[in-house]
Amino acid sequence: MYDIIIIGGGPAGLTAGLYGARSLLKVLLLERLAPGGQVLTTDWVENYPGFPEGVSGFELIDRMKKQAEHFGLEIRNEEVRKVELSDKKKRVFAGKEILETKAVILCCGANWKRLGIEGEDKLIGKGVSYCATCDAPFYRDQEVAVIGGGDTALEEAIFLTRFAKKIYLIHRRDSLRGTKLLQERAKAQEKIVFLWETTPLKILGQQGVEGLELQHVKTKEIFQKAVSGVFVFIGTRPNSDLVKNQLELSPEGFVKTDADMQSSIPGIFAAGDVRAKLLRQISTAVGEGATAAFAAEKYLESRK
Ligand code: NAP
Repeated sequence: MYDIIIIGGGPAGLTAGLYGARSLLKVLLLERLAPGGQVLTTDWVENYPGFPEGVSGFELIDRMKKQAEHFGLEIRNEEVRKVELSDKKKRVFAGKEILETKAVILCCGANWKRLGIEGEDKLIGKGVSYCATCDAPFYRDQEVAVIGGGDTALEEAIFLTRFAKKIYLIHRRDSLRGTKLLQERAKAQEKIVFLWETTPLKILGQQGVEGLELQHVKTKEIFQKAVSGVFVFIGTRPNSDLVKNQLELSPEGFVKTDADMQSSIPGIFAAGDVRAKLLRQISTAVGEGATAAFAAEKYLESRK
C-alpha cells in the first residue's frame, strides 16, 4: 500500500514526488516513458526562474529527477492502463500489477492537438511533425510550414530558422495569440513569412509531405504552398482519458480541482497541464505539484 501514487513525470509530477518523498511518505511515480513530459521537447527554457541565461528542457528535467530521487522518490517506467478511484479505495493498474494507494496525484499532462485534415495521419513522421526541437534538423535549407499562432508555434518557428530556408507561419486570424516578446522575435526573423487569416485544408503528398492546400478565411480563396515539412502547434488536449468517467472534468476534458489541487473525489489530486486552469507553464506546474503533495499529506493525516 502506497501513501501516494503520482501518475506522470513532468515538472508537476517530479515536484509532487520531491515534496512527498521529503515528507518521508511512501511515494511511487509512474511514467510511461522517461520522466520529462512536454518539457523534453522544448529546446530552450528562458522563463523558469533561477536560470538567467535559460536552460535546456532536457537539463531542467534531469535536475528535477535527480533532486527527487535524492530524497528517495521511487520512479517506475510503467504505463497506467486503468484507475479505480473512490473515496474509500484507490487502485492503479500499471503494467501487470494492481497497486493500492491512499492518495493519487494526476500529473498526466497534455498532448498535441491534431488538425484532423486530409493527409495529416498518413504523413505523421513523413513530414508532419508536432516537435520542431526533435525534427528541425531534417529540414536544413528546405521550406516548411508552421500552423498556429500561440507561444508554441512562435517558439518552434524561431527554432526552425536555424535549419530551414523559409518558414510559412500560418495563422487563422490577423493577430497572434502568443506573448508579445515572442511575437516581436518571430516578426524580426526574415526567414519567417506570415500567412494571416489562413487555414490548412489538406496536407499534400504520398510518401512524404510535398505541400499544403490552404484557404484564406475571408476571401475563401484556395491556394497551395510547396513545403516539405508541416509543423502543427494548435494547442494541447489533456491526457485525462484514464479518469474521464470518474472525476469532474471541464468541457475541454481538463481535471477540475479546488485551490488545493483536490479533484471531485477526496484523496485524488491533479497538478500541471492536465488541470483546468488559466496558465500552463513549467513554473505553474511546479507550484501545483508542491501544493498537491502537501494537500495529499494533510489528507492522509486526516484519515488516521
Ligand atoms: P495555444 O496558446 O492554445 O495556441 C494555439 C494556437 O493554434 C492559437 O493561435 C489558435 O488560434 C491556433 N489553433 C487552434 N486550433 C486550430 C485549428 N484547428 N486550426 C488552426 N489553428 C488553430 O497553444 P500553445 O501555443 O501550444 O500554448 C499552450 C500553452 O502553453 C499556453 O498557455 C502557452 O502560453 C504555453 N506555452 C508557453 C511557452 C512559453 O512561455 N515560452 C511556450 C509554449 C507554450 P487562435 O489564436 O485563433 O485561437
